[in-house]
Amino acid sequence: DPHVLMQNADAAMYRAKERGRNTFNFFTSELNRRAVERMRIESHLLHALDRGEFELHYQPIVDLRLGTVIGAEALLRWTNAILGNVEPDRFIPLAEDTGLIVPIGLWVLETACAQLAEWRRNGVPALRVSVNISSRQFRGTNLVEAMSDMLRRHNVPSYLLELEITEGLLMDELPQTRANLRDLASLSVRLSLDDFGTGYSSLRYLKQFPVDTLKIDKSFVREVPHEAGDSTVVEAIIAMAHRLGLQVVGEGIETEEQLNFLQSHGCDFGQGFYFSRPVSAPAFRRWLDVRMPITGEALQEAT
Ligand code: C2E
Ligand code: MG
Ligand code: MG
Repeated sequence: DPHVLMQNADAAMYRAKERGRNTFNFFTSELNRRAVERMRIESHLLHALDRGEFELHYQPIVDLRLGTVIGAEALLRWTNAILGNVEPDRFIPLAEDTGLIVPIGLWVLETACAQLAEWRRNGVPALRVSVNISSRQFRGTNLVEAMSDMLRRHNVPSYLLELEITEGLLMDELPQTRANLRDLASLSVRLSLDDFGTGYSSLRYLKQFPVDTLKIDKSFVREVPHEAGDSTVVEAIIAMAHRLGLQVVGEGIETEEQLNFLQSHGCDFGQGFYFSRPVSAPAFRRWLDVRMPITGEALQEAT
């Protein structure tokens, strides 16, 4: 009947979106199972904020020349009493589709700002925190105003906050997105392009917006130095970014070999399990103390 037809078409569309959009998908009964699963997750996701089920984990970003930690990426973790730990790749797309990403995203920003303030109070030298922002968050709200208010309330300088966005956002023609991007420039928070190389990699858009950093997607880093094609892509991205005056982060570094390759090609920063997995704030602090004991010098620099 029409109702089931629409429902199944919807499931197929959802699958096509999961596969990176710009594609099509036929309905199968397997998709039906997924749709049910999705509804189950969604019903819990609806209450996750109120029930305090979210936590931010932090993964260090390391200066590959100096070996020092320059900051951390904040990554959202969700633990539900019934579902257990749910991976971001499973619930973020749902949060985006339902619009829940807007309040969740504000919570993420607020928590990251509070964490930055706490670290500053407790002698952690000027670390930067990178927060992932979905395109959807630029549409629903006056994101920039909310952000500048948070920075003020927590007394955190804006240059310590970095937003990780994807290229799709820069190509979004919606007026609210445009306005948010424009206002962002005046706030002087840093802007980083996540998963670079997997999307359009449009140089025109890169030049048009105040992007500071490119993050090379981990799917390329995974294959270096053994796979010639991906190694060339990584080399080219680094060279191109530097010519455009941008800095580069290599994501998903797991081995010393990968680290050496990135280092030898002048990649500025690195992130990955090789250094540390994303961990809770207290665990991150402990990791930092071992890795980078806070010296008088560093403290002076931070103040
Ligand atoms: P992302 O922003 O590209 O984050 C990097 C992902 O790579 C993280 O997965 C991290 O745990 C993983 N990773 C880091 N180092 C390694 C490594 O050496 N090897 C491998 N195999 N993986 C590594 P995670 O935490 O599961 O997050 C997945 C995605 O979910 C993120 O990709 C980001 O797009 C999204 N996400 C996470 N937190 C947030 C958030 O607060 N807001 C929004 N909008 N999206 C978020
Ligand atoms: Mg990211
Ligand atoms: Mg990424």
